[in-house]
Amino acid sequence: MFNWIFNLIWGEEWQKLGGMKRSPKWSALQKQLVKEHPFCSACLKTKNLIAHHKKPFSLFPELELEKSNILILCEGSVVNCHFLWGHCFLNWKSYNENVERDIQIITNLRNNAQPKKESFKNPSQ
Ligand SMILES: [Zn+2]
Ligand SMILES: [Zn+2]
Repeated sequence: MFNWIFNLIWGEEWQKLGGMKRSPKWSALQKQLVKEHPFCSACLKTKNLIAHHKKPFSLFPELELEKSNILILCEGSVVNCHFLWGHCFLNWKSYNENVERDIQIITNLRNNAQPKKESFKNPSQ
C-alpha cells in the first residue's frame, strides 16, 4: 500500500524490482552475461546492454540467476529495446511472455528486408 511512496523515491528501479532485493550475485552475473552476449538480442546494438528477465524477478524471484530466463537487451535513449520488447512499452511491472517469439519475428523481418531495400521505390518519385 506504500508502493506509490517507494515509486516516488526510487522510481523505475523500484518498479523493476517489484520491491524486492536482488541477489548479491546479480550484478556480477549480469556483467558476465553481457560479456558472453555483447549485443542487444532485438536491435543488435552494443551499447547500454542489460540483462532482462523473461519471467520477471518480482514474480519469479527463484529464476533471478537462471541463465535460461535471461535475455540481453539494450536501453538506448532512442530505442529502449528492454522496455519495448521486454515490457511491452507499458510499465516495468508488465512483461512480455512472448519476448523470444517477438524478437524472432523482428529478426526475420530485418533479414528479409535487407535484400529488398534496393528495389523499394518511393511512389512519389
Ligand atoms: Zn536494442
Ligand atoms: Zn526487464
